[in-house]
Amino acid sequence: MRKRTIWAGLMLALLGASGAGASGDGPGVSADDALKKLLDGNGRYTSGKMANPGRDAKRRGAIATAQHPFAIVLGCSDSRVPPEVLFDQGLGDLFVIRTAGNVADDVALGSIEYAAEHLHVPLLVVLGHECCGAVGATAAGGEAPGHIDAIVKAIQPAVEKVKGKEGDLVDNAVAANVQNVTAQLKASQPLLAKLVEEGTLKIVGARYDLDSGVVDLIP
Ligand SMILES: [Zn+2]
Repeated sequence: MRKRTIWAGLMLALLGASGAGASGDGPGVSADDALKKLLDGNGRYTSGKMANPGRDAKRRGAIATAQHPFAIVLGCSDSRVPPEVLFDQGLGDLFVIRTAGNVADDVALGSIEYAAEHLHVPLLVVLGHECCGAVGATAAGGEAPGHIDAIVKAIQPAVEKVKGKEGDLVDNAVAANVQNVTAQLKASQPLLAKLVEEGTLKIVGARYDLDSGVVDLIP
């Protein structure tokens, strides 16, 4: 019990959720509604009609004591792909994890588990994007210096999967990488697989187009 108390306290302090807000009451939307909110926001963004919601002092004050994000986004660290902007969402709406190539190591996985299990977020989007440098570097092959090698190793299976297929290698690998990461998360034990099976967490893959700004779901 002591271990759990320390863990919970640390997570609450780090992630800014109050004890009252984080226990039991989730964001109050279904996964399908959450996905619609994201895609509607992307529609506003691509049509230049952004609402820029929830970015003022009122919203900041309203969520200062508890967060109830309605979606988790595992996206790429690429500076051109900020989830709050391209989905036209505000403070407290999205629980975002960003790594180069939108791959999930244990720390990313733990962050996702926290949001899904503790904050009861119903939707997780794995968001890849056009011209991803991490995927491109993996496809190009060669030596990756330092810890970049860990990213390349994580993306490598996606590149292998699409080698020789029709179309652009990097774009095909971006989609395959999103599919691989999505499958990894759906099967992740002990938490995410259980939540998916119970129907309390939906995990979908998507691709962001750098030119049009459009987010398309990847089946
Ligand atoms: Zn990228």
